[in-house]
Amino acid sequence: MDIQKEAKYFERALALSREAFATGNDPFATLLVGPDGEVLMEQMNDVGTGDPTRHDTNTLIAKAALKYDADFLWQCTAYAAMEPCCMCAGAAFWANIGNIKYLMSEKQLGAITGPGGLDLPSTEVVKCGPKDIKIEGPFEPLLPEMERLMKEWVKSWG
Ligand SMILES: [Zn+2]
Repeated sequence: MDIQKEAKYFERALALSREAFATGNDPFATLLVGPDGEVLMEQMNDVGTGDPTRHDTNTLIAKAALKYDADFLWQCTAYAAMEPCCMCAGAAFWANIGNIKYLMSEKQLGAITGPGGLDLPSTEVVKCGPKDIKIEGPFEPLLPEMERLMKEWVKSWG
């Protein structure tokens, strides 16, 4: 996968993260990209609905699992603005998502927001199972923009 194509997916995830934030949700979003590089699904975080489990990666995977078969999903890649938490990584395992790429790591997020999530890296979660799910990140070229958005988010907490 060339870096310019990857940048396009992450730029889209970043734009949707901004949109999620602007509409009262947490500033995150995830895309599902098929084996041929086409964007199959997009999902913004929507915890603003009142359901705190509606992380974009978790919701995207739940929808993808109903739409596509497991063998196909194994060849797909989830492009997430944020490294999946242990819930979202668990969902990827159960739905057979073969590849995950993220823009910012949870550690990098924690350095901006302080502690507050579940401190269990996605790579550790998937290591517990028999599937070789590939997880890659962060995506350095867009980190400064993601950092700016995270700082705006923190500021909004008052
Ligand atoms: Zn999550």
